[in-house]
Amino acid sequence: MNLLIADDDPLFRVMLAGITRKWGFEPTVTGDGVEALKLLQQDFPPRLLLIDWEMPRLNGLELCKRVRLMPGNDPPYIILLTSRNDSSDVAIGLDAGANDYVRKPFEPVEFKARLQVGRRMLDLQTEAIAARAQLVHQAKHDALTGLPNRRAIMNAFEREIDRAGRQQIPLAVGMCDIDHFKKINDTHGHLVGDAVLHEVAQRINSTLRSYDNCGRYGGEEFLILVNSEEEEAKEVFERLRQAVSACPIVVGDVSCLVTISCGVTVLGGEIRDNNTILAAADSALYQAKNNGRNRIVFLQEASLPSKSDSLDAIGHAL
Ligand code: GH3
Ligand code: MG
Ligand code: MG
Ligand code: MG
Repeated sequence: MNLLIADDDPLFRVMLAGITRKWGFEPTVTGDGVEALKLLQQDFPPRLLLIDWEMPRLNGLELCKRVRLMPGNDPPYIILLTSRNDSSDVAIGLDAGANDYVRKPFEPVEFKARLQVGRRMLDLQTEAIAARAQLVHQAKHDALTGLPNRRAIMNAFEREIDRAGRQQIPLAVGMCDIDHFKKINDTHGHLVGDAVLHEVAQRINSTLRSYDNCGRYGGEEFLILVNSEEEEAKEVFERLRQAVSACPIVVGDVSCLVTISCGVTVLGGEIRDNNTILAAADSALYQAKNNGRNRIVFLQEASLPSKSDSLDAIGHAL
């Protein structure tokens, strides 16, 4: 584990570097607080710090305080070193943000044990950060397809509508639905259905550009947000349709040709509420289904549903 040693006494810091290296740490040595702070502001800084209290320019106490003000969710573990004996100094050191306090001269066995405590605490912190990141990921993603889940794609939808309105940029909102998916479940079972759903999601997602958004809206329905004018959006959605149907999806010894239908509405700067936009895409999707499936339908402005129609359509979709 990397270790930062900040001490203005050259003999002492050489000794500290030698002994900690022997214990399996990889020390970086500096002679004052300003240098130490610079090192801590670089990418991937050491997380275990041995800081001397008395140093020129920036002393250990001030350094502790500055370190604790630094942004980030992975704070370092700080051991403050000092020849001060007074117990009120211990309190001052801990108040400044140190995790532990070691008096010079120190007992090597005890000092080593304290470094090990620091290492253990940092390992626990790393685990907690990873667990939290995993929970955050799970809260935003659908477990089966790996795509953003309904909550996440609806957040993106609201954000993109807002951005499209403010910056006058085009946005195509598409509702895609797998054709006759129930038949796949009924014929081959739900496990095959799950695998097909996963593969369709991958095909859609890998066809989209990095700045487009796609999420699982419901069962076998995907909400797709494409930052394009109508002409370009037509090409994007057509590519999606072809990517899904181009070759059969193979699951074990089952092979099935799968198609999707898509209803799309394009916002061109006009003010429409979010429900109306979704209802428009939904209504276009019904047209695509009624017209024979495996197709994309763009809803023309003139055929946009009224606000009350759109609420009916949403009620129907739910
Ligand atoms: P259409 O072309 O009109 O969309 O027909 P469809 O069969 O796809 O539509 P329908 O709404 O009748 O059936 C959708 C099916 O999707 C029913 C439901 O059991 C299935 N489904 C929804 N979510 C999942 C899932 O996570 N896994 C599996 N295996 N099936 C799912
Ligand atoms: Mg000193
Ligand atoms: Mg379907
Ligand atoms: Mg459906």
